[in-house]
Amino acid sequence: MVPTETLSVPGSSDRYFSAMSKRFSFSLNATDGRARTGVIDTPRGQIRTPAFMPVGTAATVKAMLPESVRQTGADILLGNTYHLMLRPGAERVERLGGLHRFMNWDRPILTDSGGFQVMSLAGLRKLTEEGVTFASHVDGSKHHLTPERSMEIQRMLGSDIVMAFDECPALPATEEEVAKSMRLSMRWAQRSRDAFGDRPGHALFGIMQGGVTRDLREESAEALQQIGFDGYAVGGLAVGEGQEAMFGVLDYAPGFLPEDKPRYLMGVGKPDDIVGAVQRGIDMMDCVLPSRSGRTGQAWIHRGQVNIKNARHADDPRPLDENCSCPACTGYSRAYLHHVFRSQEMISGMLLTWHNLHYYQELMAGLRGAIAEGRLDAFVADFHAKRAEGDIERL
Ligand SMILES: [Zn+2]
Repeated sequence: MVPTETLSVPGSSDRYFSAMSKRFSFSLNATDGRARTGVIDTPRGQIRTPAFMPVGTAATVKAMLPESVRQTGADILLGNTYHLMLRPGAERVERLGGLHRFMNWDRPILTDSGGFQVMSLAGLRKLTEEGVTFASHVDGSKHHLTPERSMEIQRMLGSDIVMAFDECPALPATEEEVAKSMRLSMRWAQRSRDAFGDRPGHALFGIMQGGVTRDLREESAEALQQIGFDGYAVGGLAVGEGQEAMFGVLDYAPGFLPEDKPRYLMGVGKPDDIVGAVQRGIDMMDCVLPSRSGRTGQAWIHRGQVNIKNARHADDPRPLDENCSCPACTGYSRAYLHHVFRSQEMISGMLLTWHNLHYYQELMAGLRGAIAEGRLDAFVADFHAKRAEGDIERL
């Protein structure tokens, strides 16, 4: 059976049509310790894991053309349901052929459920068993999100990997509050599953909650597996608990999840967070950091972090990172990058974002290669040693 939604995609090619009969699948190719490398197969292309997903909040990875994002090595992008439902609206995106066509990215897209961003961005909000009512941060208009509506919006966007609708308690929260919130999220996970239905070629991921409490994490993981999902996310981390607490949870939480499904750590992170998460068995991550930092003059390089607005770069003819093959590093000096940042030229955000995304994807490729060849420990030791050296000295 051909899913009816493919019929409404303007200009859908034969390749895409036949591809849609393919199902979503995940295969592990190698493990090294708890770290894993594999491939997620989707009708829109393969996602090599561990994977880093650049964030395209408002149907764009800011300052980047989609083909440039692809050139950095990204296999998949993340889109934000909360932002897109408010502007331009899911119904409009659907009428225009779906998010892939709208933003000119024909590879896989994962959308979040909107739940987390309602909690962090929306104005006045009211949470009930049914869902959440909130005021838009854009124009104050009133909206309602439920598991069913979140599934509908993500379907209209045409997302390849859909996230279950969940609630993430605001921190600090007591263990009792975290437990209550987690159990609500598990009831919403069941409703998300029911509303998602059977959509060949598309995946629905459940989200584990439970804060930093081991028993709650285990209870959540068991509840999700009872329902059954195509992948499992570790939610409720990277919300200000600190790296040590996050790694503390990641030391056991991925072990509660099935081996044969992808594991996604939401909203992570800095390069050393990513390395630590991969070491602990995480397959997918997303974060705004490389793109957002690129626009504020921050760059990650092999030897740590660079603030390009610092005066020490003003006369420096060397590239940002001598070991980087991105356009910013092969075509421009630190002096130029410093100048365009200080002059608030648009190319500044473009070049630094490109560099940061390139650096992140190169890190992921390095991790995948190291896991495949059983030399992850050496790779990680080298990663930390280079960072410890610090940025190159001024000439
Ligand atoms: Zn570079």
